[in-house]
Amino acid sequence: MEGRQRKHCHCGKLCRVQTSWTDSNPGRRFLVCPLFLMILWCYGEGARGCCFFEWFDPEMCSRSKDIIPGLLKNRGKLEQDLAQLRSREKLLWGFLFLSWIMLISMMVGGLRDNHH
Ligand SMILES: [Zn+2]
Repeated sequence: MEGRQRKHCHCGKLCRVQTSWTDSNPGRRFLVCPLFLMILWCYGEGARGCCFFEWFDPEMCSRSKDIIPGLLKNRGKLEQDLAQLRSREKLLWGFLFLSWIMLISMMVGGLRDNHH
């Protein structure tokens, strides 16, 4: 970022650098008006600033466009797998606990039978 000339928007303010996370431009930075709120577009209540918009990073090559959304999806899948593993582990502990209870009740029952 340093060394590169930061642009000014139509209000004359120094532009803010934002990072895009859309599928078509993942991780690509762009410049917007510092007063402009991303959620409230150029119209609507509370919208301030101008609609200045310019890409800060050069356009991505098609390869990184293909790869980065995949990486983001993979991360989501990994988290899903982890959650699945955790619930499986819980189930396993449940089984272990149950088998212990059964073993203990069998032992207690066996001792009782020996007394008779
Ligand atoms: Zn502006």
